[in-house]
Amino acid sequence: MDYTSEEGWHQPRVVPYQSLTLEPAAMVFHYGQTVFEGLKAYRSSNGDIRLFRPEENFKRLNQSCDRLSIPKVNEEAMLEYLKEFVKLDKDWIPKEKGMSLYIRPFIISTEATLDVSPSRAYTLMIILSPVGSFYKGGIDPVSIFVENEYTRAAPGGTGNAKTAGNYSGAYKAQERASSHKKDQVLWLDGVEKKYVEEVGSMNVFFKINDEIHTPALNGSILEGITRKSVIELLESEGMSVCERSISIDEVIAANENGSLQEMFGTGTAAVISPVGRLEYKGRDYEINNGKMGETASWLHETLVGIQTGALDDPFGWSIEVNG
Ligand code: PMP
Repeated sequence: MDYTSEEGWHQPRVVPYQSLTLEPAAMVFHYGQTVFEGLKAYRSSNGDIRLFRPEENFKRLNQSCDRLSIPKVNEEAMLEYLKEFVKLDKDWIPKEKGMSLYIRPFIISTEATLDVSPSRAYTLMIILSPVGSFYKGGIDPVSIFVENEYTRAAPGGTGNAKTAGNYSGAYKAQERASSHKKDQVLWLDGVEKKYVEEVGSMNVFFKINDEIHTPALNGSILEGITRKSVIELLESEGMSVCERSISIDEVIAANENGSLQEMFGTGTAAVISPVGRLEYKGRDYEINNGKMGETASWLHETLVGIQTGALDDPFGWSIEVNG
């Protein structure tokens, strides 16, 4: 689907996956005016195709558009297009347990000019790809490197938008994490490098003294759909989730004095990812003896059950795509 300032968003169409033709001066190559989303289609055991809260992805796409000065899309129309598209590609949704169809909607600025001003032309595309289970065997807790040199986002920046620059700016820290033999980066705030924000592609939760805590949304954290679902799910079970500023020193101290029972990440790819090890300022800390905790385990089972239609969905999150 394309956008021009004269016609607005127009010409939705389905075409085979193919190369694009863009001019070298296309603005996206130079100024990174682009936004994206990520969600999955699942096949339930009786063969139904299901999408998990897709309307939330289009809502977030529009929030990202707003921050990047990209014209917004019609969320209801996008959801209908997506359902049609998924139906067309339903044979690509793997039947094997744990597999799904990854869906990547994205918008790029296409106007050919080197002017530094918002583009007047855009293309929105959705690409689909079958993906395997995030966990090959059982669920392996991940190890985390607390990044205290680079930051991902700062107040007033683009941290809560899903835009390319946030990810390319993170590569350097990912390399540092890998060189320390850690799986992922834990980002601290962009002012004092004191408060926990999020993991590379996940939001983060802590269980401290039987209470669940997560960093409050502050404009520089991505508003994860899994994060929101985890909070709603826990609250529906009568557990309150405390959204607040959490300093890395508090996390380390809670781990040292035994009150940190669990730490886990939440995101579309892994759903729930327990954290078993943390490195901060050159010291390694083991969390929950390097094992997955009961809350993370229950959340994983429940969310995957709802996503795949194996469990009842009292929330109406899992949308069936007929046909
Ligand atoms: N933070 C970042 C930076 C991410 O890329 C993602 C993945 N979209 C998340 C958090 C988790 O968001 P969600 O639960 O919507 O996948």
